[in-house]
Amino acid sequence: MTFNDWFSCEQVAQGVFHIEETAYNADYRCNIFLVKGRDFDVVIDSGLGLFSLRDFLAPLSENPILIASHSHYDHLGSNWEFSQRWAHADEADILAHPTRENTFGDRFLETADFTPLPFSHFEAGDWQPKPAPATRLLCDGEILDLGDRQLEVVHAPGHSPGLICLWDERNRALFSTDAVYDGEIFDFLPCSDIPTYLETMKRLRALPVEVAFPCHNKILDGDRFRAVIDNYSV
Ligand SMILES: [Zn+2]
Ligand SMILES: [Zn+2]
Repeated sequence: MTFNDWFSCEQVAQGVFHIEETAYNADYRCNIFLVKGRDFDVVIDSGLGLFSLRDFLAPLSENPILIASHSHYDHLGSNWEFSQRWAHADEADILAHPTRENTFGDRFLETADFTPLPFSHFEAGDWQPKPAPATRLLCDGEILDLGDRQLEVVHAPGHSPGLICLWDERNRALFSTDAVYDGEIFDFLPCSDIPTYLETMKRLRALPVEVAFPCHNKILDGDRFRAVIDNYSV
């Protein structure tokens, strides 16, 4: 297998590409998004790091900036491949010193969840994340100006302390990462906090979202986005 077999890529909106590692169990695999801008492109999260994401993206984007939504194993594997890596301060320690344990790879990554295996003799137990310290720390409310698109950083703790979403107000699109997605809400990890999560949900619900690009499962329209929040919040 090569990186071209490992990743799939589909354009899902103007200037927005959805990349997946389709051989990994759909319940766990991370949706990676490339967002093109006039002045620079960003890639939101990087998957497991088993193949080169940067090489795969090269025909679409020369030198994208990596935005790490948070530091879980399914999101950070190729972060080290990107020269600029932006993240919230509350994830910075783990991004700089990731282990199988503090990224939860030891808990969730299993060989049986790959069809086919990425390579022969692949063992999930051999997976190790590489250090990739943030090169810039992002704050809540900060605007990332790509030139023809502005993304507002929304600190969205609860699933993990430094989780961030990105809000594209003009297009009413939220990159909702691991805060709001269809499926079981992971609020039970050692890094999770339910009261904080509820506050985050409340805040995100107030945004006039028409489309949400989550890091897990399907893209959500505004109604489904609000239904996910309401189902969790009752
Ligand atoms: Zn996560
Ligand atoms: Zn995740």
